Amino acid sequence: MADFDVDLFVIGGGSGGVRAARIAAGYGARVMVAEEYRMGGTCVIRGCVPKKLLVIASHIHFEIEDAAGFGWTIPPVTFDWPTLIANKDKEIARLEGIYTTNVEKSGARIVKTRAEFEDAHTLRLGTGEAVRAKYVLVATGGAPNHGEPIPGIEHVISSNEVFHLPELPKRIVIQGGGYIALEFACIFAGFGSDVTLVYRGDNVLRGFDEDVRAHVRAEMEKEGINILTGCTVNRIDKRAKEFTTHLSNGSSVASDQVMFAIGRHPNVANLGLEKTGVAINPNNGGIGVDGFSRTSVPNIYAIGDVTHRTNLTPVAIREGHAFADTVFGKRSLQVDHADIPTAVFSQPEVGTVGLTEAQARARFSHVDIYKTDFRPIKSTMSGRDTRVLMKLVVDGTTDRVVGCHVVGDGAAEIVQVLGIAVKMKATKADFDATMALHPTAAEELVTMRTPTARYVRQAAE
Ligand code: FAD
Ligand code: NDP
Repeated sequence: MADFDVDLFVIGGGSGGVRAARIAAGYGARVMVAEEYRMGGTCVIRGCVPKKLLVIASHIHFEIEDAAGFGWTIPPVTFDWPTLIANKDKEIARLEGIYTTNVEKSGARIVKTRAEFEDAHTLRLGTGEAVRAKYVLVATGGAPNHGEPIPGIEHVISSNEVFHLPELPKRIVIQGGGYIALEFACIFAGFGSDVTLVYRGDNVLRGFDEDVRAHVRAEMEKEGINILTGCTVNRIDKRAKEFTTHLSNGSSVASDQVMFAIGRHPNVANLGLEKTGVAINPNNGGIGVDGFSRTSVPNIYAIGDVTHRTNLTPVAIREGHAFADTVFGKRSLQVDHADIPTAVFSQPEVGTVGLTEAQARARFSHVDIYKTDFRPIKSTMSGRDTRVLMKLVVDGTTDRVVGCHVVGDGAAEIVQVLGIAVKMKATKADFDATMALHPTAAEELVTMRTPTARYVRQAAE
């Protein structure tokens, strides 16, 4: 070890890097973590956590509107965006402090600077210092895509800027039909903004179950979100404080902000990877790794969004932990990427785990679908026009529940727990044997007895 200044150098103090650093230090490794922006990374600083705080803030308008049906008279309410943003920033700064302290307590050293490779064992810090490391973990995350350099692209904000807008936009155009676009469309709609969502495909949330896609779109439209599909943004003009967004279908939309949420790319540029021989995965542009997150260079590993596998915080954390266990804890661990529960924090929420109906039908010869679409108890008195979707996808041959999809309040919480059942390979009979918990929405998941559809592939198909 004498040749090396540290046993492990972690590039990136985000979800995955922080976990790996702490666990490796716990095994006695000498660890250094470089972070060029703020400790905590995307999730804590400008991703999951501030987003969820905005979702909660925005959702309060439903409670206020729904109160009248339950006898409450609520005086005219006001909402102050700067207060929300200031309180959110305070909470994020607190969390950043906790992340920093936890890393330092573990014995790892943080350097608040950028790091780039000089060679496979040498990192050059922004301070000019060179550090020699036995192992290097690349955990540099990802960044928003900007798309084509269309006229007016300089006016467009991404999820990086949206958390710091000085004022709530009265009107906003959001391009994209994935997680971030839907979440922010619903956040702004909840605050009363006039929201137009522009999506290039035929329906939002490509890759999700078709019933989920249709249901969430219908619910968002009921809340007044204008969803334009089959078109893209071609040009943005700015006049004084107003933007005019020109679309490929010939129409245009006026707004106070234009946001793109059109995917993210792995942070591999300017890292000096070419000096190390680390190979990029040609299929996704991320760093190529094996099941142990090891790159093509034996002492360099990569985890989290920079590998562009499944870009979710708990996955980055698991990958970081498994790396540290494997390399420093003498426990060979691979992360299982199957059946990862995920949620879109739209309003209503989408929660999903396992296979979509289409995926199951492609994989299994016999698929049973159990589906229900109902009015939640709260809306019977609030009068809100909303419906909940619950769907189970079952492999008819083994009776195993291979997919669960929920759209409605609490979907994320429900699906986190359903994920255990799916991971344990629970059968539909296990669901049926589970007593309902009444009155809940989730009880529908254990009381659906008759398939709403059955697909049996004939031998010749
Ligand atoms: P990151 O957390 O991005 O950390 C990478 C760190 O590396 C950054 O801090 C960066 O500054 C630093 N860095 C980069 N290059 C260098 C360098 N050369 N030197 C030093 N430091 C460097 N996931 C969920 O599971 N649930 C959610 O609800 C959710 N919501 C999201 C909402 C938004 C708006 C966004 C953008 C993402 C969201 N995600 C969510 C995804 C989640 O944030 C990421 O999957 C997760 O943060 C990835 O962790 P990571 O450690 O790979 O990278
Ligand atoms: P997504 O991949 O979810 O969605 C990107 C959207 O942009 C898709 O609708 C895609 O369309 C569209 N798109 C892509 N390229 C273009 C283009 N050139 N022009 C127009 N539209 C385009 O990415 P997000 O940016 O929403 O989020 C990034 C990732 O962050 C997510 O995939 C997820 O892993 C993570 N995340 C997770 C969250 C959560 O867990 N709740 C919340 C937020 C982010 P098409 O479908 O046709 O390709």
